[in-house]
Amino acid sequence: ASATYDNNNIFAKILRGEIPCQKVYEDDVALAFMDIMPRADGHVLVIPKAPSRNILDADPGALGALMARVQTLARAVKTAVAAEGVMILQCNEPAAGQTVFHLHFHILPCWSHVELRP
Ligand code: 5GP
Repeated sequence: ASATYDNNNIFAKILRGEIPCQKVYEDDVALAFMDIMPRADGHVLVIPKAPSRNILDADPGALGALMARVQTLARAVKTAVAAEGVMILQCNEPAAGQTVFHLHFHILPCWSHVELRP
């Protein structure tokens, strides 16, 4: 019963335009926007438009299409903030740190001398 999709999760509301976001990219497959509590400068979230709770219930084909967007955005964000590296973070279920139950990938720009904020 844990692997269910709740249409009232906050990212579903963002996708429906019911709450605002600082959008950085959108196409038919994905939406990317700034994280409201950034753990690094340039912290971006990438989510699929299709409903999926997390990676565990995602359709593999849809995941492939989404990952192509994650790659493009990781390159663009890294350049935009002049990062030295990029961490991709993706959490599944509360025990792993998931707090919003719509699949999302974190793009976290990294610098060798800067710690991620908690
Ligand atoms: P998780 O812990 O599920 O991997 O990540 C959820 C992320 O969503 C967190 O980094 C959190 O700051 C972000 N977040 C939560 N609510 C909102 C919101 O309303 N708007 C935006 N832009 N980000 C949010």
